[in-house]
Formats: sequence, C-alpha cells, structure tokens
Amino acid sequence: MRRVRARILGLLFAALAIAPAAAAEITRVLDVRVGPGPSGTRLVIDSNKPLNYRVFSLSAGAERIIIDLPKLRWSVGGLTAESGTGPGEGLVAGYRYAHNAADSSRLVLDLAKPAEVARQFALEPEKAQDAYRLVLDLKPTSMEAFVQSSLNNQSRPPPTTHKPARKPLIVIDPGHGGKDPGALAKSGRKEKDVTLAAARELRDQLMQGGRYEVALTRDDDRFIELEDRVTIARELGANLFISLHADAGANSNTRGSSVYTLSSDGEKRVETERHKQDWVLSVERDRTRPVEVNEVLADLVQRETKNQSARFAQMLVPSLAEVGWAALQNPHRQRGFYVLLSPDVPAVLLEMGFMTNIHDEANLATEKQRSRMVGAIHAAIDEFFETEAQALAMR
Ligand SMILES: [Zn+2]
Repeated sequence: MRRVRARILGLLFAALAIAPAAAAEITRVLDVRVGPGPSGTRLVIDSNKPLNYRVFSLSAGAERIIIDLPKLRWSVGGLTAESGTGPGEGLVAGYRYAHNAADSSRLVLDLAKPAEVARQFALEPEKAQDAYRLVLDLKPTSMEAFVQSSLNNQSRPPPTTHKPARKPLIVIDPGHGGKDPGALAKSGRKEKDVTLAAARELRDQLMQGGRYEVALTRDDDRFIELEDRVTIARELGANLFISLHADAGANSNTRGSSVYTLSSDGEKRVETERHKQDWVLSVERDRTRPVEVNEVLADLVQRETKNQSARFAQMLVPSLAEVGWAALQNPHRQRGFYVLLSPDVPAVLLEMGFMTNIHDEANLATEKQRSRMVGAIHAAIDEFFETEAQALAMR
C-alpha cells in the first residue's frame, strides 16, 4: 500500500509547478547509492555541491529514515526527475525521493529492519570531475530504540533557516478513474473523463496566473483509492483541495451543479480515519506539550479547516452563478464524502452537473462551455486567497 502510494505520489509531484529561474545555481543530487558498509549498510549521496541536510527517523506506519534537504534537482543516474525510487540493500528495503514541499526535497529510506545512523560525514571531491559525497552509515537497532529516537526527532526545526514565502498549493482531484468510470451519460460519456478534462483545464488556468502551485491527484485514466486522494493532498501540504465530480440522477430533467462540504456525520469519521490512515497533524508533532493540549489544538485546527471549507464553498456558489452555470436548489450542501475528511486541508467537492441531463452533459463535454465553469472556480480561488491574506494582515 505504502509503496503504491509512493509511486502514485511520484507521478503527482511531476505536476507541481517548478520555477525555471535560478536553474543554473541549483544543487543537484547526482546519485543515491545503497550498499554494504562497515556497520551494516552505507548510504552515499553524490551531489554537485555540499548538501545541507537533516536526518531523522519516523516510526509511524512503517520504519523510515528521512533525509530532508533544501529544494534541489534530482538528477539520479543522469535522469532529472521530480521524484523516483531505487533499490535497497541490507537494512534498507528501498529508497524514494521527491520534493515534499515547495522549498524542500526529501529522501526516504524505507527500512527492512529498525536501524539508526551510526556515523555521518561529508567528503569533498578529490578530483575536479568527482562529486561531493554525503555518507550515512546505518547500523541495526532495536525497535524500542528506533521508536524512541523517532519520537525525540519529531520536534526539531526544518533544515532551511530562511523560508521563502510559498505560493498556495491547490490540489485538484478528478473524481473516479481507471476501472471506476463514475456516472454514465446516455451517450456513453463517462464521468471520469469529464472530471479529468476539467481538472486539467483548471490546473492550466491556475498555472497561467502564476499565483499558485497546482497538483492533480491523477493526471491520467487511473484508479486511485479515496484515502490516497486525501493522503496525497496532506502529504503535499495542500492549502485547498477541490474534488471534481459529475452527478447522476434518476430523472433526466434534473440538472445543475452543487458544492459539498463535510457534514456533521462526516466529521465524526475524521477522528477514526485520522488514526487509521496515520494523518498526523503538525500541531500533534510537538511532543513537548501535554497530550491534552495537543488534542485541544488539533480540535481547533479541524474547526478552522471546516470554516475555511465553508468559506470557499460560499464563494464558489455565487462565482458559478455569475457565469450562468446551472445550479441545483440550495447548491451548498453537506455530505460525509470520504475525500472531504482531511482534518487540516480545506476541501470541497464540486458536482459540476448531471451526466444524466443532456444540457449539462453537453456543457461538460464542450471545452468552451466547460472553461466558463473552470473560470468561475478560478475566480473563487482568487477571492478565497485574497480575502485570507487580508484577514491575516489584520490580525
Ligand atoms: Zn463522482
């Protein structure tokens, strides 16, 4: 599961916007090598410049050793990619790398057994054509010691001292995909295709404006579990999550869009899923505070997230109306949809219209009509972040 997720994530990171400026200056990781070492297993990272890094372990879910690096270019084995994976050896089952945030990159060692860093050192190039090397020697440890060290490490600050202001990250989730076609029109048109087309258009529009970073949960016709859609948004650090769907109705006259935020029944599921899916809130990572304090803070975060979701829905509804996009009666609705369960990412699910209504289907299938709706979503996103910036400035 985790591996599948890592692979999915790998593909998605490719959708993130990367600023082309400063490319000449950028640090590159040239190779990642895992092999036998003096204390067990040795990891060597080759780079074109010395690396600032922070190493720590994580025990939640599966045992990992994480190496956080500033934003850099992954050019492992001569191939530049936003993310990738490689084989392990000994204590390391395998490694994966990606940009885990707008300003940082992460190398994850998935461990075959609990391990700790016995020794770490950096080597300068010996000859001009050589690379800088960062060497981590791992040795086996007990599970107890591993868990303890992963707890101790969780409250350390990130490696970069100055944090450039990040653009808001919008994660767009095209509903369904792969073996799950979603709702079907009489014509045979599938919801999964309409949602993907709309998601791509929204991404392109948002990217053109240059104000946001954008990622899709899928950028092709593939099946993704609902929990992975939420996990993707959380792991990328999304500031807003928009799931796109198209409805089906028993009555072919029924048409119009609707915007869903989480219902109170759905809210009750958040707690269960939070523990089941290992969705740790950032406030909970601080182990220096008493557990009860963290619980109160986590509760505050969830309430604020819920308010933000409602705030966005209340902007999206009139924005769609403004471009004359058909809507159901009382278009802001509440349901317990799984993709809305994220405790700390404001989220809405937009049913763009009915596949079972010929007018809605025609609008959703026509690029010109669809882009009217996409423009309305874009406008609502602008309003959402503009007003948030104002609200923050007034505090
Ligand atoms: Zn759907």
